[in-house]
Amino acid sequence: MTRYIFVAGGVMSGIGKGVTTASIARILKSRGFRVTAAKIDPYVNVDAGTMNPIEHGETFVTDDGMECDQDVGNYERFLGEDIPRENYMTTGAVYQEVIRKERNLEYGGACVQVVPAIPQEVIERLETASKKAQADFTLVEIGGTVGEYENILFLEAARMMRLARPKNVLFVLVSYLPVPSMIGEMKTKPTQHAVRAMNATGLQPDFIIARSTVSIDEPRKKKLAVFCNVHEEDVISAPDVTSIYEIPLNFEKDMLGDRVLEKFGMKRSVSDMADWKDLVTRIKGAKRQMGIAIVGKYFQTGDFVLADSYISVIEAIKHAAWAERITPEIVWLNAEEYENDPQKLQELDAYDGIIVPGGFGPRGVEGKILAIQYARERQIPYFGLCYGMQLATIEFARNVCGLKGANTTEVDPQTAHPVITPMEEQQSLIQEKHFGGSMRLGAYDCRLTPGSLSMRAYAKDKSGTQKNGVISERHRHRYEFNNAYRETLTRKGLVVAGCNPQRNLVEIIELADHPFFVGTQFHPEFKSRPLSPHPLYRAFIQAALDTKNKNASNNGVTDDGG
Ligand code: GLN
Repeated sequence: MTRYIFVAGGVMSGIGKGVTTASIARILKSRGFRVTAAKIDPYVNVDAGTMNPIEHGETFVTDDGMECDQDVGNYERFLGEDIPRENYMTTGAVYQEVIRKERNLEYGGACVQVVPAIPQEVIERLETASKKAQADFTLVEIGGTVGEYENILFLEAARMMRLARPKNVLFVLVSYLPVPSMIGEMKTKPTQHAVRAMNATGLQPDFIIARSTVSIDEPRKKKLAVFCNVHEEDVISAPDVTSIYEIPLNFEKDMLGDRVLEKFGMKRSVSDMADWKDLVTRIKGAKRQMGIAIVGKYFQTGDFVLADSYISVIEAIKHAAWAERITPEIVWLNAEEYENDPQKLQELDAYDGIIVPGGFGPRGVEGKILAIQYARERQIPYFGLCYGMQLATIEFARNVCGLKGANTTEVDPQTAHPVITPMEEQQSLIQEKHFGGSMRLGAYDCRLTPGSLSMRAYAKDKSGTQKNGVISERHRHRYEFNNAYRETLTRKGLVVAGCNPQRNLVEIIELADHPFFVGTQFHPEFKSRPLSPHPLYRAFIQAALDTKNKNASNNGVTDDGG
């Protein structure tokens, strides 16, 4: 029997509802339960693949190829498990399925009404996800905040579930408590209003997660308890933290795990968070700094540049760095600036490693290629992720093999040397404008080339990512290394370090005469977890550390790592 915990937001979004959901999931898993987590995203988009990454953040990809909200990445990182496609739904996906059923007369010719058909479909999806995971607990995060029209039908689904199984459904409200500087005290009123808005949908929170810059104090806990109709001990303090991975431990300080079990009428169970505590100790003890540059196109919304668009890359860098007791300083550099002013490339000397992440379209591409050339020639560790691998191939074709004007047909359809071209099945999809959910998505096998740096990196990893030289990694792309150029490029020293065995697609490129120059057609960051950093990210960080040490000793600087 599955118990459901719905997590909704109050006052404003972006305050860590996803991480809260992931943290509660982690707490329950650490008590020996089977736990899964699902995300409900109120957008009309059928999946997150067509959403704007600047507004919505990263598109995370699951093993089974679902393009979903970045919070699914948080669930995977906190639970240390793969989350399947059933655990993500949008308004668009739910309506699409209800309309499909209606067209197939699956409602038996009845009039189909929004209520109950839509909430019913939501409930069925949550039940399917729970069954698949054989979950004792399913966390369900509802996107947005209570009081928005967009998520009313999802709250309605939650209400219907509570009515049907009152003992097995709980509600958590993650709410923000501002501390306005001119007042200098934490204000509870916005949260009181959020609870009222939630009450208006027929729901009462069992827990309030009190997000704020600081911990909530006793008088305010009492106030929320009285005004919001929750027990004082069910107001859980959630101050800002330096690392999100501290949050499950903070929640347990307020006994959240015990309280959840108590409300479900379950026996308390012992929590084993030893590995998680080690992780947090490692994070806090990582005193040495390292500079990692991510070179990408410039993007911002108004005055705010959003790091969320590459959250998995950022987390993967951190996971690998913490394993070396390093705190990475990750800096976003605007590739377009190098196009106007190549002198600016020298700023890259200040970094121990350079990443060009995934991307689409022509903007900033030439600047990224210049940065890759700089990293290759100056022996700065370089890690290319998807587009970063394709652009490294172009750079090598142009500047090492003399293939003038080499390019990807994504940027220049008329290029004389199309070293990156659409995969066969993609040509017609692109022509017919079938864009939604049609990229090469999810996990595919890759056979590693013996003797390659990548093979060595994976071989070191003991968590079973590699079996007999074959790995499985997640993809999200339409274009691919053009095998017609394989011979020309490899003759000049490009190493094909991994291939998809079924279709002979190039999945990893490397350079031998370089401390670390690796490009992957897949996104290794999607499989990096704090308790098991990704082997290629680890190898990248280790190479960056070696370079840093070498540069320091050349400059006569000693760094004891303290
Ligand atoms: N735009 C490239 C492609 O579609 C790379 C995609 C990516 O970086 N995820 O193949």
